[in-house]
Amino acid sequence: MSRGELAVQTEDSENFDLDLLTCPVLLTLFFEPVMAVPCGHLIEEDAKNKLETPGRCPCCRESVLSWIQCPPTFRNMLQSELQKAISERRVSYHDIHFNSDHFVKIVGQKRIVDDKGKVTQEEGLKTPTGLRFITLLENAPKHLNQKPVTRTESADGTVTESVGKSAIEILSSTPQGRGLLRKKLHIDVSGKFFFGRTEILPTSLMIQTNGKSIREWLSMTTAMEKFEKDALERIEAITEEERIITAQKERLSNQFRLFLSRGAQGGAAAGGSRMHSEAINPVLQHVAYGEESRVRDALESVKRDPAQLAALLSDTGTVKDYSDRIITGMTLLQAAAAAGDIDMCLMLKNYMSPEEFATQLAEIFPNGIEAHETDQQRNTFNFDAILAAIRAATPADLDAALNKIGAEFTQSDSARAKPDHELSLIEALNRFREQFAQHSHSEKIFNPQHLLRAFEVYNALWNQCERDGSDRDYKKRDLFWRQIIGYTQRFMPACYAQAFAQGLYYLVKVDQDASWRPEPVNRALKLKHDNFSYFPLPVDPRSGLGFDFAIYVADLLPWAGVQGRSGPARAVDIFSKTFVEQKQQACRTLCREFECSRATSLMNVVA
Ligand SMILES: [Zn+2]
Repeated sequence: MSRGELAVQTEDSENFDLDLLTCPVLLTLFFEPVMAVPCGHLIEEDAKNKLETPGRCPCCRESVLSWIQCPPTFRNMLQSELQKAISERRVSYHDIHFNSDHFVKIVGQKRIVDDKGKVTQEEGLKTPTGLRFITLLENAPKHLNQKPVTRTESADGTVTESVGKSAIEILSSTPQGRGLLRKKLHIDVSGKFFFGRTEILPTSLMIQTNGKSIREWLSMTTAMEKFEKDALERIEAITEEERIITAQKERLSNQFRLFLSRGAQGGAAAGGSRMHSEAINPVLQHVAYGEESRVRDALESVKRDPAQLAALLSDTGTVKDYSDRIITGMTLLQAAAAAGDIDMCLMLKNYMSPEEFATQLAEIFPNGIEAHETDQQRNTFNFDAILAAIRAATPADLDAALNKIGAEFTQSDSARAKPDHELSLIEALNRFREQFAQHSHSEKIFNPQHLLRAFEVYNALWNQCERDGSDRDYKKRDLFWRQIIGYTQRFMPACYAQAFAQGLYYLVKVDQDASWRPEPVNRALKLKHDNFSYFPLPVDPRSGLGFDFAIYVADLLPWAGVQGRSGPARAVDIFSKTFVEQKQQACRTLCREFECSRATSLMNVVA
């Protein structure tokens, strides 16, 4: 029969000749036939590039102007004839052409929806062609399981074969394909896997795609797969986070090493690698004085100039604070952190990159904040000598001391040479002041432990005097309060003085009732209930704080004016301790915040 008579055949024959359903080139039944123009002969689309003489029809040898898709009527007719032939068992699904490359395209074709919600492209497996592929594979084990072999012959006649992917492997490589496989999956009593009526052969089940065997893919539900995919993405995100953190840690530790190698350790100025600049001193002075709003104003005024802002924040300067402590080689942030001024640090943080913030803190706490706190504990001033001198003092000595007779900053040479126990009370007080000032000024970072220890010693003294009745006129306790506690208070950084002036009772929750709320920090140096300022210290170096009085840090007792008689410091002690602990906690948080924020985001990802 001539192939030119297709139209005639459909009209007069009950059954198509099988030849009419068969591609003359590939000798398989048509799946996606294309028609030659002008002669009208059909070949399978896949056969176009396998023609011996391209450009000529393989049936009639006429030249072909173009190959076009079969008209739909033709295609439907072929399709129904094919179904009929299969149902009559004249042919089988095995004989239908299966084009693996075409199938890959169909499986990979995703649904596309435009801006208006209109579907411009349907998911490949849901298109008519996709559905025909599925029917074919559900009925043809060969097409489902067999890997296509492509033979190519080179010019010198050597034949190379390349093995492609089987249909089941292609299907199992996408979530949609796996979803379809699961939908059509049937496992019989003997444990065989079926895709529709087609057995999925054991060798196919063992194929690995996307990290799992096909059997494993089919043993899980689509929901499980989605869950696993999400989990995997989370893990990948975490791995990326970890990589970033590791890189940052490495950079920080390199900076530490650089910092240490420049000999900046041992209380020497931090920031060996930083630029010292006179220009920052006015702003650094505001930091030292706890003048947060003036520091903020200064930063705001240069905010538009990134270079100027960066210089202001990363250069170091030299100033003195209210207690004559020299602040040098420190940036604004470092000076604030060294003073324990957490609010100032938090304000500065808004103008700095997290890296710069962390780096600067790491420079002043090179061994970490915990090690620094341990060092501070170990380095707490020893009040034993001055306590012993006060306890041993005679009433006359006490009166002289309370009236500041002979109170000096500089000790006479003869007194300087004496051991502690040979000093008079006045000399012992002079030595205490000299040693404490020296000790305190040698610390680049303010150590709040001195004041806490002084309170402890004061409490112990109070209790002992109560027990043995050795201080009925309160003069020993009064002296310790005014001139030991008070003297240590002269060395407080501005932010502590501000908190004491406002009253720790209003800032720190200890045992206040449930209606208590903390006041906002007002940064005033003027004492709440007394008409004078904590700082600056009086011009006369032997008067005021540390000579005539100490400051009640907790402001608990209405009758406890600053100059009044000392009372048990228990509450004061607890408030101060709590205050310092809160500051330390906040400082630890600041130092770790950079990494903490990373860690928190990690935990959120995992949760
Ligand atoms: Zn032809």
